[in-house]
Amino acid sequence: MKIRYPEIPSPCYVLVEDLLRANLKILRHVSEQSGAKILLALKGYALWRSFPLVAEYLHGITASGIYEARLGAEEFKGGEISVYSPAFKESEIDALLPIADHIIFNSPTQLHRFKRKVLGAGRKIDCGIRLNPLYSEVSPPIYNPCIEGSRLGIVPEELHKCELDGVSGLHFHTHCEQNSDALQRTLEHFELHFGHLIDKMKWVNFGGGHHITRKDYDVNLLIEIIKDFRARHGGVDVYLEPGEAVGWQCGFLKGSVLDITYNAMPIAILDVSASAHMPDCLEMPYRPMIRGSAEPGVLPYSYRFGAPTCLAGDVIGDYSFETAIEIGDEVIFEDMIHYTIVKNNTFNGIPLPSIGMLRSDGSFKLLREFGYEHYKERNS
Ligand SMILES: *Cc1c(COP(=O)(O)O)cnc(C)c1O
Repeated sequence: MKIRYPEIPSPCYVLVEDLLRANLKILRHVSEQSGAKILLALKGYALWRSFPLVAEYLHGITASGIYEARLGAEEFKGGEISVYSPAFKESEIDALLPIADHIIFNSPTQLHRFKRKVLGAGRKIDCGIRLNPLYSEVSPPIYNPCIEGSRLGIVPEELHKCELDGVSGLHFHTHCEQNSDALQRTLEHFELHFGHLIDKMKWVNFGGGHHITRKDYDVNLLIEIIKDFRARHGGVDVYLEPGEAVGWQCGFLKGSVLDITYNAMPIAILDVSASAHMPDCLEMPYRPMIRGSAEPGVLPYSYRFGAPTCLAGDVIGDYSFETAIEIGDEVIFEDMIHYTIVKNNTFNGIPLPSIGMLRSDGSFKLLREFGYEHYKERNS
């Protein structure tokens, strides 16, 4: 394999500006046509040096807690900040008061404990509640917030415990990589359980997990669903908060081959780790795409790709190629921008990949390198 990007260090996550912009254009189209406001979920994508670009297209950010909210306040200039957490500490609420626009509570106790403080903050902050409509099509269960016993959101039987005065928004998040037909079915359940509340509200937040920028996503259906929902509920504001759909297919992780060994099949050891650099490959699990590869056995040269860690299971997958792989070759893992950088770690003392951007003019800009000190700091 030839080296396609000699100017990019290895390993390195590389955001491709044009691809990000293409995603953002689709999201802005949804927003313009439906009237919905779209917030970037920092849980999945927090490359803040790109926020000035993202802010040209989206309304703001959604945060899972104080750090994400702070990052949004510092770097996503002029954007709305919505925050939801399964449980806030009092000190976190205090820190959110100067920066949050929506604070969404997960239980009646959290709502009652902090509502007065939030409403009396001296600046306008909306209180919302997260609801569990008891319906989600997501599998596996680790990603399904409506499984029996889920801690995420207030179930219909608990609703009577909520004092709703001062609450101006409803939230649900029940999707993961789903198309708009799943939203349509979900809204039926949401409205069945909670429809009577909507007309008293300023906004309803449909959460994330809408795979809007995927090629087969039915964008027109999404727009129709939102318009219809708003029309039926007095023009209520609708929010979407995708993370994955923003960072979807908009960059790669460059790695390289350190060694080639043999045990039943040729095994290439790389400078990237599934466990440390792309943990969803083991958690989800899934086999990442490598540029120029096919399933093992399809092309003439097959290899197992593994990490430079001591974890036996830190195997990325089996792949085949047109030509033999050599030590020093570049390996391009596709779609490695969302849910990678936000989750990576220094397990086994493996260096963290650098972060860079391929700009529209074709030039590469190195945004950040990491060194030994980042490993040391986190292990004090
Ligand atoms: C994870 C999450 C999101 C973003 O989900 P994506 O699948 O990345 O679109 C939005 N809202 C909440 C509450 C979440 O937990």
